Amino acid sequence: MSLTLRPHPPKTDGARRFLEGGAKPVLIGAEWSVLEQQFETWDPATGQHLASLSRAGAAEADAAVAAAQAALEGPDWAGMLPAARQALLWKIADLIDAHAEELSELESLDQGKTYATARFAEIPASAAQFRYYAGLATKIHGQTITPSIGYAPKGKQVMAYTRPEPIGVVAAITPWNSPMLMASMKLAPALCAGCTVVLKPAEETSLTAIRLVELMQEAGLPAGVVNLLTGHGHEVGDALAKHPGVAKVAFTGSTEVGRILLNSARGNLKKLTLELGGKSPAIVMPDADLSLSVPGVARGIFANSGQVCVAGSRIYVHRSVHDRFCEGLAAEATRLKLGHGLDPESDLGPLVSEAQAARVARYVDGGRAEGAEVIAGGAHLGGAFYAPTVVTHTRPDMALMREEIFGPVTAVTPFDSPEEVLALANDTEYGLAASVWTQDLSSAHRLAAGIRAGTVWVNCHSYFSPELPKGGIKASGWGVENNLAGLSNYLEEKTVCMVI
Ligand code: NAD
Repeated sequence: MSLTLRPHPPKTDGARRFLEGGAKPVLIGAEWSVLEQQFETWDPATGQHLASLSRAGAAEADAAVAAAQAALEGPDWAGMLPAARQALLWKIADLIDAHAEELSELESLDQGKTYATARFAEIPASAAQFRYYAGLATKIHGQTITPSIGYAPKGKQVMAYTRPEPIGVVAAITPWNSPMLMASMKLAPALCAGCTVVLKPAEETSLTAIRLVELMQEAGLPAGVVNLLTGHGHEVGDALAKHPGVAKVAFTGSTEVGRILLNSARGNLKKLTLELGGKSPAIVMPDADLSLSVPGVARGIFANSGQVCVAGSRIYVHRSVHDRFCEGLAAEATRLKLGHGLDPESDLGPLVSEAQAARVARYVDGGRAEGAEVIAGGAHLGGAFYAPTVVTHTRPDMALMREEIFGPVTAVTPFDSPEEVLALANDTEYGLAASVWTQDLSSAHRLAAGIRAGTVWVNCHSYFSPELPKGGIKASGWGVENNLAGLSNYLEEKTVCMVI
């Protein structure tokens, strides 16, 4: 089977106007400018050209960091009262909501995801980030401390307090799978803390970042507080990561690039948060309710065509229900209808690019050659489309069991005991997330405690909310996003100690 698709023009005036508006600019300070050097972005479903984008490099990185440094100390931003920052963040959220249809169309066209995924999950989740951190902007407090210091001059007292201060200029570098949400997860807490930002979206999917920054300006964000540089990772991304004027890199992307950033950041010892790859297990216990766990686990791997960092790409099923589970999962995979992201009939869109689909195919073909059995899918359908795939009879040492595929491919393995499944689940360099499917309270808590991962879901997968800390351990990253903990990434605490 191969998919031949016609182009799907956007329906909203906003998305149409944006796409017809010519080459896309970068934003440095108050100035939008189209650069001479450019690169292209395409609709992955059809190969249709969407837009030319400015290709920033080291010179633009210097200028954007300088603009962000000036804004950091400028009265418009540094002097903005917390309540005004709160109102500004809330207004950004309102503008995202008001433009949700247009943003969803752009996200779907640029990334390939279905309109419904963008419109009802990721774009509202982006607005939710700004609302959550709007609420925290008025709640950033230090401590007053009476230190146990007895050597102050006679008749004097020692007192101290702390001041949480913005960490400085942040380089926010984001991946292509959920572009607007990943950018919002950095921008909202950074602005809440009073930082300034240079945003570098993924080269494959930069369109909604441009619209988001335009909306932030419309909300009244002072010039230079957010700067936007589109371009390649090894060019402008690298320049930002090494820049001495950048205090912190907030990165979401692959573990491979995360490792490069450790080196890039060493010059001025930048603070780093690294939200990296995963190889997340889903564990189905013998007592699991299969009517919920089969579709739940299927969503956990196939949503966004598997291009989700926490995708459940290793499924461990108790031997007593293994065959029934496999049958159900294969049926779920086969039932999904692939098509253009803007076609309301589509359950899944294409992957982000033809190259990504070819990469997925290499993993499945490699597994097959080593003896894995494909019970659903297993076909590159042409272009950027790859069929939702379920594989069995794998071995733990196969590349498809160890490496992040970032596509709609999962492997099911039977197990016999809780001890065995914990060992299998933890047999990975990654530690991002996991899910446990059971109706037994003891199994739920014991497995949740034993799994080495940043998040464990019970009877659900990929449940996110700004209140829930999200981060990886082991090779899945450093630090967490979301929650109060996510705000602390952007603050540093100064201690003021005085004799009075
Ligand atoms: P990637 O690592 O290739 O690229 C991510 C970003 O880094 C892009 O903007 C890219 O241009 C930039 N970049 C590349 N090389 C760079 C360099 N040398 N210096 C500075 N910047 C550089 O990742 P991707 O392929 O865009 O996204 C997929 C990956 O993201 C997957 O591994 C996925 O698991 C991960 N991801 C993780 C999370 C999480 O929260 N843990 C969320 C989403 C995606």
